[in-house]
Amino acid sequence: MAGYDRNFTDELRTRLSIVDVVGRRVPLVKKGQNYWGCCPFHNEKTPSFSVNEEKGFYHCFGCGEHGDIISFTMKSNNIGFVEAIKELANQAGIKMPEYKPKSAEQVAREENYFQIVEQATQIYQKKLFEPEGQEALNYIHKRGFSDEMIKKYRLGYAPKNNLIANKFATLKQDKLLSTGLCRRGDYGMYDFFRDKLMFPIFNAHGQVVAFSGRSLDGSEPKYINTADTELFHKRKTIFGLNFARDAIHRANRSIVVEGQIDAIQMQSNGFPETVAPLGTALTEDHIAILCKSNRNIIFCFDGDNAGQKAAARACDIVMPFLRDNSDVRFAFVTGGKDPDEILKTSGVDAMRKIIDESTPLVDFLWEITNKNFLVSTPGGRTQAEKFLKQKTDKISDVALRAEYEQEYNSRKFNSWHKWKKSTQKNINIELPEVDSITQKTLIFITDKYPELAERYAEFLASLNINFDGSVPEMNINATDAEKYIVSLKLQKYLEKLNTEKKEIMAKLLAGEDVEEKMNFINSEINRAKEKLDTLISM
Ligand SMILES: [Zn+2]
Repeated sequence: MAGYDRNFTDELRTRLSIVDVVGRRVPLVKKGQNYWGCCPFHNEKTPSFSVNEEKGFYHCFGCGEHGDIISFTMKSNNIGFVEAIKELANQAGIKMPEYKPKSAEQVAREENYFQIVEQATQIYQKKLFEPEGQEALNYIHKRGFSDEMIKKYRLGYAPKNNLIANKFATLKQDKLLSTGLCRRGDYGMYDFFRDKLMFPIFNAHGQVVAFSGRSLDGSEPKYINTADTELFHKRKTIFGLNFARDAIHRANRSIVVEGQIDAIQMQSNGFPETVAPLGTALTEDHIAILCKSNRNIIFCFDGDNAGQKAAARACDIVMPFLRDNSDVRFAFVTGGKDPDEILKTSGVDAMRKIIDESTPLVDFLWEITNKNFLVSTPGGRTQAEKFLKQKTDKISDVALRAEYEQEYNSRKFNSWHKWKKSTQKNINIELPEVDSITQKTLIFITDKYPELAERYAEFLASLNINFDGSVPEMNINATDAEKYIVSLKLQKYLEKLNTEKKEIMAKLLAGEDVEEKMNFINSEINRAKEKLDTLISM
């Protein structure tokens, strides 16, 4: 176990849902808070094996087996820890870290790194209040930063000269280079950050690990960040998280804004649960890290085109992380402003209103679909439907995905395909009960072929079969079993349609306007009959 740092196993636990991992082996059904299935570790017919998505644990009330995704993978495959980790990394689609125990040398290197970066932070902090830093200080005061905020976030100023390179001139160059603070040029070492307002970037333990420097003379890019180092990975670092972590737990949500100054201003003005990605691009890793606290995220973007695009991208990235208890929303700051400006010009209440009125993900995705495609045309609708499907397919929680699909189907139906509505109105097909022979056959099939039971779960559930009795002995292969279910489904549907037809016929004779319904029923009957014929002749 030594060598695989906890970060990696934590990442697996974050990335993979225990319901997905267990669900690959054991069919699970949600009842109340937990998912239930038959225990794979002891023999049973009635499910006593429960899986808790939120806590990431499974527990068997029959035999007492208990654990998480790693122990489940070890026990159910009868493999060791390392193989289980490999298997799970594979499922999560992430690369295994190399087996590398931290050597004494590495520990020393890390200590050295943090020492240099900490000293640099202090040097920059001091410079901000010296004459050289006057312009930077004026700027940050103008942006509404109090001295208290400057102190808390440890803002500083990197002057125009090679201050850090000179300060650490006696140090071995490699040590300094490893921090990304200095680079080697033709004339020796030089500072990477020059004439910049410095925002320290903290790791989870509150240590400064890198910097983000803002240009003061209007030169582009506005921000430069320390290039990735051994201890700093931009894609995995969230600005402000060390300050926001407790608040994210308390508020049971996080707010993600685009810029660092926005994040600081939000944190200081009533939204301590706010963070920002580094640079503009939000990554899967950022979401995975936020989801460790909870899965309630409000993305706050500028209302302009770039903001809309960034929001669509965030929506894409967040889909696989959705669970039935997630609340993901999108807020837009309009009028060419950012949260920092809103707070300053319109106040905290205006910002709160924007956050409170944020759009839930399900609606946001629907909005962008309608905006991006010409849904008034069949071609546009086809593209739009494909687009929606591609998005919902990313949801890994099967039940939740089905809910999203159903939700969008009904929206498509109501606003894109209204013409269908008139023909299908008031036709509610309910299935009749099944006889005892059919019931026994189905009990046998669901027991022997769980994958079929899963595939036709909805239909089987609608039949109200009592599965508590014993499983009969039968001899049906998987192909015939599936044929049996499908033909039963069609027969039941036909029976119901015929009953319906009689009722409509009576109405028709009574002079009611039910011709459209009749046509619909007839076409459905023909369709079902055709399918049944094909099935039987197979
Ligand atoms: Zn058990």
